[in-house]
Amino acid sequence: MFRTLIAVLATLSAWPFLVSATPLASDSIIIHQFSRTASSDSLSIANGGQSQTSSAGLWAIYEKEITDTCMTVDAAIRQLKARTDPGALQTATDSIALIPVLNRLNFLNNRSYRLHAVLENLQRLKNSSVRYRVVNISGVEGRTAYDKTTGEIVFYVLGAASFVHETAHGGQFEDRKIAYLRTTGAPFGNDLQDEIEAYCWQFAFDPGSVLNLQSTSVALTFAGITEDWVKHLRLPDGSMPYSEKGSAQLARKTISVDSRRKLVIRAYRFLPQIKQLPAGWKITNDPNIYYKGAPGSETASTR
Ligand SMILES: [Zn+2]
Repeated sequence: MFRTLIAVLATLSAWPFLVSATPLASDSIIIHQFSRTASSDSLSIANGGQSQTSSAGLWAIYEKEITDTCMTVDAAIRQLKARTDPGALQTATDSIALIPVLNRLNFLNNRSYRLHAVLENLQRLKNSSVRYRVVNISGVEGRTAYDKTTGEIVFYVLGAASFVHETAHGGQFEDRKIAYLRTTGAPFGNDLQDEIEAYCWQFAFDPGSVLNLQSTSVALTFAGITEDWVKHLRLPDGSMPYSEKGSAQLARKTISVDSRRKLVIRAYRFLPQIKQLPAGWKITNDPNIYYKGAPGSETASTR
């Protein structure tokens, strides 16, 4: 009998989200992203708090916020470029005076590049054979999970910045960088690089939502969002979800759906039981793992 990841981990109490039957009901589910505010809470209490805005409605609202921000950033870039044309750079004195302007231009260009990537990713997710749903939640952490009852990947978000972050993980699913467990819905194969990308996209949309996060350093620039910064992120309750023993259980090596068993074992070095996975095991031959392109995984789509 082929031994699957779930069978191996079923003996493991230290990784409860992988073996719990009802992880979505638990506060201890993977912490994927946290934010100081839930700025879009008001969205869900339209209609006098009677009804939750639909997934499509939330998606449209957030996409518009991102588009508007992208347009604002691009307009600021055009304005700054007008001040840094060749005529303005003719003398050394002028060049020195322009350094703060050029720094700002560089920062805005970095934001613009990523905001366009965020918007392209949203189109890609909408056009995908995989179905994605967005749900507003309250609290301090967003997350993404697979819903086995509907076959959808669900973005649980706190607001627009959180939506940007979680949909980055949707793009990573499309790229086969991460997968989900069919049993619990929890991500599998998510690693530090995946979080760096998601936080960089979030920073591009709303720098303040990342600046205020606690770590060993403050992420003042994109370059400040490093593996070390992610590892040391600290929740208000003092916990560090992305540390090696943290609740997010992030892989410590960069892995994808196509990574070999040996690398997966090294990535999950904090789980000694994972060594019991049999020779020949791969993410793509484990029936409990839902990944982009898995046999039968895309037949549920009605989009
Ligand atoms: Zn994340």
